[in-house]
Amino acid sequence: MIITRFAPSPTGNFHMGSLRTAIYNFLFARKNEGKFLLRIEDTDRERSKKIYEEEILKIFNIFKLQYDNLSYQSKNLSIHQEYLEKLMSNNMAYHSKDGPYKFRVNRDNEFFEYDDLILGKIKVPSNTIEDFSIARSDKSPTFILSNLIDDHLENVTNVIRGNDHTTNSIKQIMISDALNFKDIKYAHIPLIHDINGKKLSKRNNITNVDDYLSEGYLSDSIFNFIIKLGNNFNDIEYLDIEDAIDNFNLSKVVLSPAKFDIEKLNFINRHYLNKLSFIEFKNFLEKDIEKQVSNFQLELVFQDILERCNKYTDINIEVSKLLNFFEKNIVLEIDENEKALIKKIYSIIKSLHDADNAVLMLEENDLPLKKIGKIIRKITVNFESKIPIEKIILFFGIEKVKEKLLLYLND
Ligand code: GLU
Repeated sequence: MIITRFAPSPTGNFHMGSLRTAIYNFLFARKNEGKFLLRIEDTDRERSKKIYEEEILKIFNIFKLQYDNLSYQSKNLSIHQEYLEKLMSNNMAYHSKDGPYKFRVNRDNEFFEYDDLILGKIKVPSNTIEDFSIARSDKSPTFILSNLIDDHLENVTNVIRGNDHTTNSIKQIMISDALNFKDIKYAHIPLIHDINGKKLSKRNNITNVDDYLSEGYLSDSIFNFIIKLGNNFNDIEYLDIEDAIDNFNLSKVVLSPAKFDIEKLNFINRHYLNKLSFIEFKNFLEKDIEKQVSNFQLELVFQDILERCNKYTDINIEVSKLLNFFEKNIVLEIDENEKALIKKIYSIIKSLHDADNAVLMLEENDLPLKKIGKIIRKITVNFESKIPIEKIILFFGIEKVKEKLLLYLND
């Protein structure tokens, strides 16, 4: 059975590259009907923080990355040390003078090689790899050792991780062979670059998943965007998690770094925003705006509003825009023609109620929308909203529109 894992160190915010790694491990396990594990690598006591661990769990929840087991590396510390002793007693490791414990690299063969599931055959001259630390002088194991031991203890079969771990994998394979562990297959995914071709860095880019979520990107959009960085998923344009499982192919991960193009994310986000149901739409409304809009027929216009949004945070901006002028009861300067038109409109709709078809009545009385659109828009919302005028009338309701018209006729 295939067993994959995501093994974050809770020492910083969860970034976009890690999200892609987590998802790929999840997809690979699910596609192969295997297991997906989450392991919190919390052995760096000083840098590991509870808030970062909580952030990992929160993001896993938001992106629906269900794991089959959750473990904590710190619980295995004594086992890591037992293996250190074993390597020492077999003369495969030694205590360097006043320094760390090092693994003794065997250079009998000219090359070290292994088959990477993405990069292909990796071959490194053995004289380029020096003996390396597996524990500090106080016997606390380094990442290389504890990470491998945990993979072994959890029966992990496949490790998918960033390209920056390639050398670590070579070292871990050496330790694994020395301890007669079952082989683990490694797959290294190319790093993500920014639009200028530089490595995505915290300093120059927004890299935290949480920042994208709070800035107004939907998790569906981020999911689609991030999985496509480096893998084409059979060119399917929009995938939910099930489609992604079906169409995931590890060997199709591209070798060159993927480019992080924010415009692409914006495009995808517009697509998913336009698919929101009315209930989902309402969930994004801030409390006071929701209250303000409760007197109006928001459901009639929510799709038109969504067409104007790039981020879900724009929903509140757009709804406020519709209400702000209307609620202030400002009376604008109008000319004689406008006043005459308002008078005419009012005379037609004054006896109508919300249930009546006001638009039809107006048309039948020689007041088609083409003729009245401009003035109605002016006195209700007072900006060039793309929302069709009949919807604006229905959104506010005939009674309210009547009140608005009356403001201009009371002299
Ligand atoms: N804790 C390591 C990291 O966050 C895990 C790397 C791996 O996937 O093995 O980089």
